[in-house]
Amino acid sequence: MRGFTEYLAHRYIAGTEREHAVKVCRELNKLGLLATIDVLGEGVTDEEHASEAVQEYLALLDDIRSTGIEASISLKLTHLGLDISRELTESNLRKILKKAYVLNIFTRLDMERSKYTEDTINLFLKVHEDFPDSGIAIQSALVRSSEDVKRLIKAGAGVRLVKGAYMEPPGIGFQEKKLVDVNYISLMERLLLEGKNTAVATHDEAMIEAAKDFTQKHNISRESFEFQMLLGIKRRQQKTLADEGYKVRIYVPYGKDWFAYVLRRLRERKENIYFVVRNLLD
Ligand SMILES: Cc1cc2nc3c(=O)[nH]c(=O)nc-3n(C[C@H](O)[C@H](O)[C@H](O)COP(=O)(O)OP(=O)(O)OC[C@H]3O[C@@H](n4cnc5c(N)ncnc54)[C@H](O)[C@@H]3O)c2cc1C
Repeated sequence: MRGFTEYLAHRYIAGTEREHAVKVCRELNKLGLLATIDVLGEGVTDEEHASEAVQEYLALLDDIRSTGIEASISLKLTHLGLDISRELTESNLRKILKKAYVLNIFTRLDMERSKYTEDTINLFLKVHEDFPDSGIAIQSALVRSSEDVKRLIKAGAGVRLVKGAYMEPPGIGFQEKKLVDVNYISLMERLLLEGKNTAVATHDEAMIEAAKDFTQKHNISRESFEFQMLLGIKRRQQKTLADEGYKVRIYVPYGKDWFAYVLRRLRERKENIYFVVRNLLD
């Protein structure tokens, strides 16, 4: 299983090293695409690994500045120690935000499974007061997200809207894809009207068309929001949107701890699962 996943991983991640991510970003920038770089890793259970993640992010920030690539950073709080303690996580996050602030690089907090949502939003809102050049991801798959979006708009925080990559239980997550999509459109419209620097992060053409129609109808300028997509998904569409004059940012993950990320990408598309199963049976 790991062997096939490794083979498929080449599509979804830049490589295992920082220089691989920088190289991919350079190529994306040449195509008129922006990037956000993620150091792969999550669910860290000891301080040493959390500290290694911080060091890697600090080095990454230096490399973004010194190479001149157009890239922000994305990170997961369980990579910085959320499973260990909130205090440790906040201290680690602040180290990264401080450097990002000095170098003028935007930082986005990814959203993980629902057990971390409350802590992620609370910690984000706390640090956002000191580091306003930071944003957070919100999942339309969660029932609570409408209230969260309200809070984040009020705080003046930039939201990346995603559907959500995790299976969530009834009552916490919408169980039907249709409801996730309806909620996506509703949150997206609110964010585009009232939020700032909204990121419409999806590969779903229906969502992308809805965003285009809505922004045209409400005279929302193309500079005031951006589309975001994942590395290796809908490459032609990424370029087409950029050619049409939209800001498009690509999520570029790298690192040795790629397995959980790639599994999520494989689960999202049934053709990927067929591919893995077919190879296992061969
Ligand atoms: C920039 C960015 C950041 C993200 N950050 C987070 C986050 O912080 N937290 C979180 O929970 N989720 C995050 N996600 C993932 C997101 O929640 C979805 O799981 C993922 O984007 C698939 O949903 P979709 O909106 O593309 O719609 P879908 O309806 O799932 O997909 C639409 C179409 O896109 C294509 N597609 C989608 N996924 C794949 C794939 N893996 N491989 C090949 N083709 C595919 C298919 O053609 C599919 O029909 C992020 C996504 C993006 C684009």
